[in-house]
Amino acid sequence: MIHFDNSYARLPQGFFARVAPTPVAQPRLLALNDGLARRLGLDADWLTGPEGVAMLAGNAVPQGAEPIAQAYAGHQFGGFVPQLGDGRAVLLGEVVAPDGARFDIQLKGSGPTPFSRRGDGRAWVGPVLREYIVSEFMHAMGVPTTRALAAVATGETVWRESGLPGAVLTRVASSHIRVGTFQYFAVRGQEDALAALTDHVIARHYPTANGPLSLLDHVIARQAETIAHWMALGFIHGVMNTDNMAVSGETIDYGPCAFMDAYHPDTVFSSIDRGGRYAWAQQPQIAVWNLAQLATCLIPLMGERDAAIEAATKSVHSFAPIYQAAWRRRFGEKLGLTEAADVQPLAERLLTMMAQQRADFTRVFAGLADGRARDEFIDREAFDAWAVDWQAQNPDPELMRHANPVRIPRNHQIEEAIVAAVADDLGPFQRLFDAVIHPREARAEWDDLSHAPLAEQIVHQTFCGT
Ligand code: AMP
Ligand code: MG
Repeated sequence: MIHFDNSYARLPQGFFARVAPTPVAQPRLLALNDGLARRLGLDADWLTGPEGVAMLAGNAVPQGAEPIAQAYAGHQFGGFVPQLGDGRAVLLGEVVAPDGARFDIQLKGSGPTPFSRRGDGRAWVGPVLREYIVSEFMHAMGVPTTRALAAVATGETVWRESGLPGAVLTRVASSHIRVGTFQYFAVRGQEDALAALTDHVIARHYPTANGPLSLLDHVIARQAETIAHWMALGFIHGVMNTDNMAVSGETIDYGPCAFMDAYHPDTVFSSIDRGGRYAWAQQPQIAVWNLAQLATCLIPLMGERDAAIEAATKSVHSFAPIYQAAWRRRFGEKLGLTEAADVQPLAERLLTMMAQQRADFTRVFAGLADGRARDEFIDREAFDAWAVDWQAQNPDPELMRHANPVRIPRNHQIEEAIVAAVADDLGPFQRLFDAVIHPREARAEWDDLSHAPLAEQIVHQTFCGT
């Protein structure tokens, strides 16, 4: 039924462990993403039928799939862990969509693997639905990201602080290869494997790259664009460890991620990020730090060592100008201004005002096109003074309406949807999902979803969900 072509499973043995998903007691489909199924050329009716759900739960391995857990290492909060790997996920295989694009089909929460260490390999329904909603919103806003094809309840209890209903997410990605995948072989001094991985990534993601240095340049440029997208949406990834940075440039691993309501550059939500390493404003620098780790891995493949170090360093330094240009483009569009305008000072003045007054990030920008932004400020005269200078640049409302979502999946809304889903009511999840995958459409029926949280609704902390 599904045509798999598993290029990663053809790489040498050390790249993965062959392991089937562990069947679950009582699979029940919670959500299927029709739009993504079509994109992949998969039959949505088959996927929602018994055979499809059995596959999405990990109860049946479809013909042509070659389930594997991928090996990788990673810096977690700056500390290096030489072996991580898929501890709660299994890559079923790769499908080639009708347009020729290749996608990984991965089950997340599918049971233990040789990389699970002490973990149970499972996920509960909360983080599964959170990733489903947030990743599809990101996609709707044009942000490079992994996607969500399905969520299935397992009928089993997962034990965290308490017993919670288990679930499996089907994640779709152009690949799951991470900076940490390169680190895994680099730390072991396995240059042949590094070279094979480099060739695989070039063929798969960057066919125009000619060698490891060129690959590094390409990954850096892609990541600079992705991080600029995050910044422009007030998105905080929360765990930018090197194992959570995809070399494709796609946003990956929606754990404790969150969008800001009230704007402040130092905002952090993740309960485990005590030092604020991954705060909103830190993300570009952390990306550079991670990419420097990738550069370090590739140096042994780049010929004479001193020259290689110099070239790799120069490549890492290319992040800043690419990122800054992307930032100006993104925030320019948010302000309705094209490249020619002097975006940076206007955007920075606005952000400074927003931070001082803790204005709602999404509502301020969405309000620029319809004149309601000033209502988000306490000091409206300060806003008006800014708006005079901004209007003088002739902002284009259409540009703004495209760049600024009228609603985002807010933390309190996601939590409400999860609480309801745990009590077997999927209504709030479905409503929130439909609303956020149409993020630019103002519709009366979704008006309440564009509101900022009331004081008592504000979510201050998010959790990894492992
Ligand atoms: P993450 O926080 O998702 O980036 O995961 C970091 C590492 O911990 C990865 O190697 C995961 O596979 C592993 N891990 C996370 N949760 C679990 C779990 N419940 N069981 C086994 N391994 C896990
Ligand atoms: Mg991860």
